[in-house]
Amino acid sequence: MSDLKLVARQHKEHNSVIQVGQETIGGKELCLIAGPCAVESEKQLFEIAKGVSELGIKFMRGGAYKPRTSPYAFQGLKKEGLKMLKRASDECGVKIVTEVLDTSLIEEVYPYADILQVGSRNAKNYQFLKELGKVDKPILLKRGMSSTINEWLLAAEYILLGGNENVILCERGIRTFDTSVRNTMDIAAIPLAKELSHLPVIADPSQGTGKRSLVTPMSLASIAAGADGLMIEVHNEPEEALSDGFQSMYLDSMKGMVSVLREQAKLSGRTLDLEKIRKEAV
Ligand code: PEP
Ligand code: MN
Repeated sequence: MSDLKLVARQHKEHNSVIQVGQETIGGKELCLIAGPCAVESEKQLFEIAKGVSELGIKFMRGGAYKPRTSPYAFQGLKKEGLKMLKRASDECGVKIVTEVLDTSLIEEVYPYADILQVGSRNAKNYQFLKELGKVDKPILLKRGMSSTINEWLLAAEYILLGGNENVILCERGIRTFDTSVRNTMDIAAIPLAKELSHLPVIADPSQGTGKRSLVTPMSLASIAAGADGLMIEVHNEPEEALSDGFQSMYLDSMKGMVSVLREQAKLSGRTLDLEKIRKEAV
């Protein structure tokens, strides 16, 4: 027996469409979120932000606070990184998706983010999920790397129950016995989550595979499976990246990738129009 209530498909007649300024997530137009794993420098971030916005991609990702397996690995530029994201957002017109690591950082990250990302490692941090229910901005909720689909949806239930209905589910691969990929991308989770819930579901094939060459095929598979969007890591110099360079797309290859995705979008009854970025009145 599942305890799904507010997130359950039966709870709402229509798919939830999340409004982020003038953009929507969960409608006919696919949502693309592209950007570096981590904010590393002004130069890195602005080059990527320009590249991404020139393609008409509306959302840029970039971690300022990074959850790293090793405490010796790059932990992010923290507040400095958040400020860089804001400047890039103002200058290039991209909306910002950035991770919030715990309850104590919600207040700090909030003003800099258009969507708050909750990482795989926090997908079972129930007290934190309750706090996110009080936030009045959309939450991008990654699937825990060892969460069942039901556990992932129940994590979203915590946020909705707290009062925040704007949750975007993100499949990012799970741990299996297979070590030839960083994670096993669970493509079936996409249509199943959409069957069980009215919330938008996007896919992150970068964390989902850990391998650049697999990102485009898994993006296509995700769109074919009904994903409402994709979160893709991209870097101006992947070889120099301070985290996840091996799974980051080259900025130069994004244009080609977008045209391939557009064709798949059409086949799936979706659009990927990527009209020019509209600067919003502030
Ligand atoms: C990321 O998006 O860079 C990340 C750390 O993701 P996840 O929480 O899915 O591992
Ligand atoms: Mn990453």
